Amino acid sequence: MEGTILTMTDARDPDRDTYYVTAAIDYPNGAPHIGHSLEKVGVDAMRRYQRLRGRDARLTMGLDENSQHVVTAAGRNGVDVQTWVDRMESAFRAAWSSLGIEPDAFVRTNADPRHAEASRELYRRARAAGDIYRSTYAGWYCPNCNAYYTDDELVEGRCPLHPSIVPEWLEEENDFFALSKYGDRLLAHIEANPDFILPRPRAAEVVATIRQGLRDFSVSRALKPDREPWGIPVPSDDGQVLYVWFDALTTYLTGIGFPDDDGYRAYWPADAHVIGKDITRFHCLYWPAMLLSAGLPLPRHVVVHGFLTAEGQRISTTTGNVIDPVAVTAEFGTDPVRYYLLRDVSFASDGDFSRANLIRRHNDDLANDLGNLLNRIVSMTGRYRGGTVPEPVEETEAEVDLRTVAGVARQAAEDGFTAWTMDRAIDGIWTLVRRTNQYLEGREPWKLAKDPANAAALDTTLGSAAEAMRLVGIYLAPAMPGTADRIMAQLGLPPVADGDWTSKGTWGAARVSHVVPAGPLFPRIEVEPTA
Ligand SMILES: [Zn+2]
Repeated sequence: MEGTILTMTDARDPDRDTYYVTAAIDYPNGAPHIGHSLEKVGVDAMRRYQRLRGRDARLTMGLDENSQHVVTAAGRNGVDVQTWVDRMESAFRAAWSSLGIEPDAFVRTNADPRHAEASRELYRRARAAGDIYRSTYAGWYCPNCNAYYTDDELVEGRCPLHPSIVPEWLEEENDFFALSKYGDRLLAHIEANPDFILPRPRAAEVVATIRQGLRDFSVSRALKPDREPWGIPVPSDDGQVLYVWFDALTTYLTGIGFPDDDGYRAYWPADAHVIGKDITRFHCLYWPAMLLSAGLPLPRHVVVHGFLTAEGQRISTTTGNVIDPVAVTAEFGTDPVRYYLLRDVSFASDGDFSRANLIRRHNDDLANDLGNLLNRIVSMTGRYRGGTVPEPVEETEAEVDLRTVAGVARQAAEDGFTAWTMDRAIDGIWTLVRRTNQYLEGREPWKLAKDPANAAALDTTLGSAAEAMRLVGIYLAPAMPGTADRIMAQLGLPPVADGDWTSKGTWGAARVSHVVPAGPLFPRIEVEPTA
C-alpha cells in the first residue's frame, strides 16, 4: 500500500479556516417532502454553527437529474424532461427556502454545464490512472435504484429496495471502474480514521462489505435508440453516458468549482458529506475510490442519518402521507419545524414526524420554557427598572451557579455539533433555559422589588438573567436563526452575526443594556380535542 494515502486528507490551506458540508442530492421524480428535510435542516444548522465559530463555511446541495426514473416521472406527468426538472427545481428550492435554507451552491446535474465538465474530468483522471476498462455488463437493472442486482440479491424476482419493481435483465458493453483495486486502501483509511464514518457503528457494515471483496462497477450506460438521450456523455464515446452515480457524487466537487477554479482547494476535502443510510455504499466505497483514483484527498467525515416516518408510517407518494415542508412551515413557522426536527428526531437513528409531538414541543419547550423566560426578563426589567438592564453588583452562589451552567451548556452544544448529535446540542442549551427559569423562581425579583433595601439584589438578578438569555440567543442561532434574532431584538442587541459564538458567546463577553418588549415569541397552539 502506498504510504501517501493517509496524509492526503489534510491538503487544505492551513491559513484559511474553512468548513465544507454537503447534503445528498435528491431525485426530482416528485415534489420534496418532510422526509427529505431532516438532513437539509441538519446541514444548514451545521453551516450556521461553523459560521458562528468564525469559519468560512460552505454548503452544497442539488438535484440528481440524470436518472432514467426522472425521465419516467416526466413521461408520467405528460411533459418533456427539461420542463419537468425545471418545475422540480422550483419545488425543491421553495421547500428549502421555507425551512430557512439557502445553499451556497445548488447543483443541477443536467442543467449545469460546469457539472458535466467536472464529471468528465474525474472520469478522464480515473482512465489516466488505469482504473477504467471496457467489458460486458449483465444483470438485473432497477431503474429506481439505478443499480444492477445479481440473482441472489433480488427478492422473489423483485428489487430488494423497491418491492413493486421487477428489474429488467440488461446486457451491454460498458466502461468499468476498478473498485476491487481499492479494497485494502479503503480498509486502511477507515481503520486509521475511526471517525471517517459517523456514527461509528455504521463503519462496521462498510468494513464487512470490503472484507467480502469489492466488485468493479460499471460507470457508463449505452444510449438506447428508442429512448431520449439523457445524461452526461462519456469523454471519447458519444454512444455512452456516465453512470448516474458517477456524476451524482461529483456534485460535491462541482459545488466548489472543480476542476477550473483553484478555489475548490480552499474547501476540499469536504468536512462532511451528510447522507441517508441507503446510500452508504456509494459514499463510503465508490466515492473514496474515485477520489483516490483522481489523486484527490478524501472527505473527513461521511455522516449517515436514519429515515423519517410520518405518524408511524413509511412516507410514500403511493400511500399519500407525504407532508409538504412549505405547508407545514406555513402552519407552524420555520423555526418551530426546524427545532422539532433537530431536537425530537435523533439524527443518527430512524425517527418519526408527528404533528402531536410537534405541537407538544412548540407549547412545552418554545412557548413555556423559552418564550416565558424572555417575556419575564423583558417585562420585569420594564416594570422595575424602566427598561434599563442593570449591572449585576453582588454575586451570590446562585449567580455563580448560573454562570457555570452557561459554560456547561456551551460545551454540550459544541460537543453535540462536533458529533453530529444535534438533539444533544439542543438538550445542553435547554439546560440553561430551564436553569435560568429556576434561578428567577429562586431569587423572586417580584418580592425583591417591594423593598428598596433589596435594590442591589434586584439589579443582580435582572442583569444575570438577561445575560443568560443573551447567551441562549447565540447558542440557539444554528437551529433557530429567526428566533435568535428576535431574542436579540428584545434584548436591544443587533442580530446574531458570524463569529459571535467565539467573540460574544461567553458570560460577560457582551452586555445587555436595555430591553425592547415585542410580545410573546411563540403564542401557544390550542390543540383540537381529537387528532
Ligand atoms: Zn430498486
